[in-house]
Amino acid sequence: MSDIVKCPECSNEVKQGYIFSPRRICWSESADSIFADFESEVLIKDAILKISKIPAVRCEKCNLVTFKYK
Ligand SMILES: [Zn+2]
Repeated sequence: MSDIVKCPECSNEVKQGYIFSPRRICWSESADSIFADFESEVLIKDAILKISKIPAVRCEKCNLVTFKYK
């Protein structure tokens, strides 16, 4: 992800790293709380054995993390 080097909000230089989660990461256009996430669009799947890391960039000023999910 070397194409994004500046924060879209403050234009500061971002840090490159990786984001990871032992659980899935889902996307929703609704802010409502839910009981289960079976119907949600999964951006990053559950880890089976190894937790894969997704390249990401992070602005420590805005607390903004940007990553590509595919
Ligand atoms: Zn920023």
